[in-house]
Amino acid sequence: MALTGIEIYKLLPKTNCGDCGVPTCLAFAMALAAGKTELDKCPHLSEEVRTKLAEASAPPILPVVIGAGDNALKIGGETVMFRHEKRFENPPGITILVTDKMSDAEVKDRLKKINELPYERVGLTLHADLVAVKSETGDTAKFTALANKVKAGTKANIILMSEKVETLAAGVKACAERKPLLYAATKDNFEAIVKLTKESGCPLAVKAKSVEELAVLTEKLGAAGIKNIVLDSGARNVKQALQDQLIIRSAALNKKYRPLGYPTIVFPCEMTKDPMKEAIIAAMFVAKYAGIIVLSDLNGESLFPLLVARLNIYTDPQRPMTTKQGIYEINNPNENSPLMVTSNFSLTYSIVSSEIESSKVPCYLFVKDTEGLSVVTSWAAGKFNSESIGSAILKSGITDKIKHHKLIIPGYIADERDAIAEEMPGWEIIVGPKDAADITPFLKAFKP
Ligand code: SF4
Repeated sequence: MALTGIEIYKLLPKTNCGDCGVPTCLAFAMALAAGKTELDKCPHLSEEVRTKLAEASAPPILPVVIGAGDNALKIGGETVMFRHEKRFENPPGITILVTDKMSDAEVKDRLKKINELPYERVGLTLHADLVAVKSETGDTAKFTALANKVKAGTKANIILMSEKVETLAAGVKACAERKPLLYAATKDNFEAIVKLTKESGCPLAVKAKSVEELAVLTEKLGAAGIKNIVLDSGARNVKQALQDQLIIRSAALNKKYRPLGYPTIVFPCEMTKDPMKEAIIAAMFVAKYAGIIVLSDLNGESLFPLLVARLNIYTDPQRPMTTKQGIYEINNPNENSPLMVTSNFSLTYSIVSSEIESSKVPCYLFVKDTEGLSVVTSWAAGKFNSESIGSAILKSGITDKIKHHKLIIPGYIADERDAIAEEMPGWEIIVGPKDAADITPFLKAFKP
């Protein structure tokens, strides 16, 4: 059970030294209880207190990592019921299903889709995340062969699904280094799957016939030392599944009920046979409150809007989306290609880069870090002025890529032209269009 701010305060050194960045231990305790700071910020805690507080300050829905290395997927870690209260933390993993009843060609097709359906949007790459490998035949050899095929065919993270623990164990052996999610512990296979989970170090899904039964199982798993848990309430009709999501989230967050404080997995693939309905159900679970969403297949026309919905719901409403500062090459530029500059508000980058792309004129676009503010707002806030633009461009390495010294600035900051020229001696500063829609004619007429 999470501790209150006062309970946390009682465990702190009470020296008010300020090393944690706030002036008093009480302020630190309150911030920790509200999830607004991290335990490690106080360097004066005994091991005993640190362990106790680590549990108390853990998010009400624990984070779970599936996979290994840079490609690992983190789900859970959620702290709020509604996005506007703070933000949703870790987007749900979109998953495609393959089974050992499918033909080689069907499996190949699905792996091709997960590998070849990523989308670029506002400077980000959107894609599905996991392959669920399901045993439908009960044949361990077939399941192992399928797990091997998936391991070799994609870098996506893996869920191994079988009712038989010995079949799961064979699957784990085939792809242990990928740290797959094991699906699923039930009341019938409990002892054996706990043993396999401990030996493999893999995360574990737990499936029950109701939310109540889930809580009983997760308490037993917790007592056995297993914390990397994903919940399946067993519901396969939309109404009950949604209701279970709400109950689980509310119990974990509002009642601080730890046995339900884990991310969930849902199966739209088992709720309808209509692909479009399946996508709509999946979109509902992106908002309410799934950690993993298993789809029967991936199709561009439904996957792209689903990924965009996920992106929108999981962006921080208090912080604008940003694009990384740097030089972006559009339409294969060369040493004579024009150089433009813009701000790093993702929407600005997206619009400007798309206009350049559709102009078909090879171009370099330098994106300046303006803390996610648009051109006009960042200029007004002093984050997109002559000094910051000049020094960022001169340090960017662009002079190794172009022969000319000409920079096109957005029309909205035309007043900065002379000041930028002063910051960049030897450069000609050209005022570009105010509106992105005018970029194409401007570039077509531009002579470097
Ligand atoms: S660093 Fe620790 S001891 Fe110092 S004020 Fe913060 S909480 Fe208190």
